[in-house]
Amino acid sequence: MKILVLNAGSSSLKYQLIDIKTEKVLAKGVCERIGIEDSLLKHKTTGQEEIVINKDMPSHTEAVSLVLNTLVSEQYGVIKSMDEISAVGHRILHSGEDFKCSVVITDEVIKICEKNIKLGPLHMPANVMGIKACRKVMPNTPMVAVFDTAFHSTMPEYAYMYAIPYEDYEAYKVRRYGFHGTSHKYVSSEAARYLGRDIKELKIITCHLGNGSSIAAVCRGKCIDTSMGFTPLEGLPMGTRSGNIDPAAIEYLMNKKGYNISEALDYLNKKSGVLGISGVSSDFRDLVAAEKEGNKRAALALDIFSYNIKKYIGTYAAAMNGLDCLVFTAGIGENTAEVRERVLAGMEFLGIQGDMEKNREKNNGKIRDITASGGRVKVLIIPTNEELVIARETYELVR
Ligand code: AMP
Repeated sequence: MKILVLNAGSSSLKYQLIDIKTEKVLAKGVCERIGIEDSLLKHKTTGQEEIVINKDMPSHTEAVSLVLNTLVSEQYGVIKSMDEISAVGHRILHSGEDFKCSVVITDEVIKICEKNIKLGPLHMPANVMGIKACRKVMPNTPMVAVFDTAFHSTMPEYAYMYAIPYEDYEAYKVRRYGFHGTSHKYVSSEAARYLGRDIKELKIITCHLGNGSSIAAVCRGKCIDTSMGFTPLEGLPMGTRSGNIDPAAIEYLMNKKGYNISEALDYLNKKSGVLGISGVSSDFRDLVAAEKEGNKRAALALDIFSYNIKKYIGTYAAAMNGLDCLVFTAGIGENTAEVRERVLAGMEFLGIQGDMEKNREKNNGKIRDITASGGRVKVLIIPTNEELVIARETYELVR
């Protein structure tokens, strides 16, 4: 059984074709510049060089068609016909309070996703477009929506509520939702599997550290708190996002810089974070290189990022009344030893002790245990695989 996983952005469409029996990726790629001139498809089948196809894609419908044609093409394809695709799993940003898990897509589900565009105005329009385009091109193939927020739907009320007037929460649904749910779910269950323990016995903190970063407290298999909030702007400082900031400082900055609210949000989303602090880059490889050359602000950006991770670990260990396992994942979590080293330093009181030599070993794409001997809390680096979670959940719902 083969599952096509789609992740539609405003001008892009990422895809992976996964054989669910072997969980192997048969082909993957991305359509870029959809709706813009010079659109192109980058496609890679396992063991082959990436190929680039330049083709006009005025909308996501043409992009889905091009992906399918490429997957079945004689030259670059991996399947004989579209019928071999048993189902399509769509990555959808926001479930609102309407869905607590993945669902088979129906007209009703599409309507609810459209209603929730207001909760994720940057991503949801494209997500819905992706569903509709796919329906047009493959009307008889079952489809499933897998939500980035759903894993966090188990948070208790006292963790997801903001302290604003309750009636405004009720009227406008302003609350913490959390994101990167598929990743937190995947790495927490991988941690339990790796440790040979039942996840229901474990208290795990998962640190998804990438361009966007979030941390989750996974207590006995359920998320009880997470750092991102109503939007992915809350929580840790990130590549270009500020993360937590006193809301009153925003008004002050707006007055000083003459910004309106959308300019202020642009500033907090795109010009802040480690890019804003360092003035060097949002990419942690550049920050590490700049720090080695003596750049003080790059070092400061790495310090601020790591210090904030530490604070969340302390908070969530307290929230769960203990900790068994700490997981690092995503681009920075899997690759940037300099961040992990800073996070792990001085955490012995919590039972967290990292082996700094193991921490420095290169990423081999596998799970790595970097717990120092005597460390009570297991410290693991686990490569995330959000597409595989989407494929698995799609399969579970349609089989
Ligand atoms: P992600 O959003 O998960 O793709 O993570 C992107 C971030 O991971 C960027 O800041 C990268 O600098 C950082 N990173 C550090 N080392 C690597 C690496 N070897 N490969 C990919 N990303 C890396």
